[in-house]
Amino acid sequence: MAAVTAPDPVELAQRLIRCPSVTPTEGGALDVLEAVLGGLGFRCTRLTFTEPGTPDVANLHARIGTGAPHIAFAGHTDVVPPGDLAAWSVDPFGGSQVGNEVVGRGVVDMKGAVAAFAAAAGRYLDACGGQLPGSISFIVTGDEEGPSINGTRKLLQWMAERGEHPDMCIVGEPTGGRKAADTVKVGRRGSLTAALTVHGTQGHTAYPHHADNPVHRLVRALNRMINEPLDDGSAHFEPSALQVTTVDVGNPAHNVIPSRATATLNIRFNDRHTSEHVMGWLRARVHAETQAFELSPRISGESFLSPPGKLTDALSAAVHAVLGETPELGTGGGTSDARFIKDVCPVAELGLRNATAHRVDERATTDELRALTEIYHDALTRLIPAA
Ligand SMILES: [Zn+2]
Repeated sequence: MAAVTAPDPVELAQRLIRCPSVTPTEGGALDVLEAVLGGLGFRCTRLTFTEPGTPDVANLHARIGTGAPHIAFAGHTDVVPPGDLAAWSVDPFGGSQVGNEVVGRGVVDMKGAVAAFAAAAGRYLDACGGQLPGSISFIVTGDEEGPSINGTRKLLQWMAERGEHPDMCIVGEPTGGRKAADTVKVGRRGSLTAALTVHGTQGHTAYPHHADNPVHRLVRALNRMINEPLDDGSAHFEPSALQVTTVDVGNPAHNVIPSRATATLNIRFNDRHTSEHVMGWLRARVHAETQAFELSPRISGESFLSPPGKLTDALSAAVHAVLGETPELGTGGGTSDARFIKDVCPVAELGLRNATAHRVDERATTDELRALTEIYHDALTRLIPAA
């Protein structure tokens, strides 16, 4: 192994931000990362996955070493759109540093963490002087903020076909609350969106006995759902939460009982439920008010818990060593690609503060970027101890 030089996480984060990689556009971000990892001695493979009806997506797999333990860093270089450009105080794709903060789209979600991964791996490889007692890989997608069809899931399949089985995986999603890296995410709630249509019989509002008002039935069914909690939480999870996101009738007439009414619900459910169980729970509540309905689900992910163990111990110890405090083990927030990785190996998420993720003037301090790099590096030394 040739001598390597670890990249600077702040400078690399800025270079990544300058690549306008709004999903599904690669924007040059994987090129930058590939060049850096290639320079560190990683074998890099670019993989473009396709599926009819969805945009093609570029992904990157990189690995160094062949032995165990095999630790994977997983993340994404795609970002959400900047939104209202006039509201930004800097060019969202300029990679600006303002005072001690890097400001730009994706710095916390999650180009800063990807840069910290590469910097930590570089430092680790520098220190082991050609004797890597295990292996490190990168699983980086350009399709996390989008439909997540041509991204991590297919990258994991591709790896499995080649016998690439990480022993543990760290995902760099922004998990920090009060400060960067103060929370290690060990699981996620599931997410299910249900479209509900209730059918009735159209009629004159003056003669309701000749009609059957689907709006009343829909409202009563929704009332049953929002009045009764799904559960009261579990050991590692908050209570499941149901939100009605829209109710649509589209009836322009004040004197016509409509023939149908629809609503959409989003349910974030904990490890006490599967999506199938949630659908049964919903169906029973609608059924109590009407038999004339359709209920169709779109499942973004099942809930999961990666049980605390060697990986979470190492991450907790690394955070403690760098920040002087023990991180919380949490399961809050939205879905991430960890939901695919959990089927392959233990996975935990650890990253920057999420307060400005997806917002205007997304920002992280240079101290946070450097501390996260130290934490990932410290975790590597615990997970792949010197031979
Ligand atoms: Zn993300």
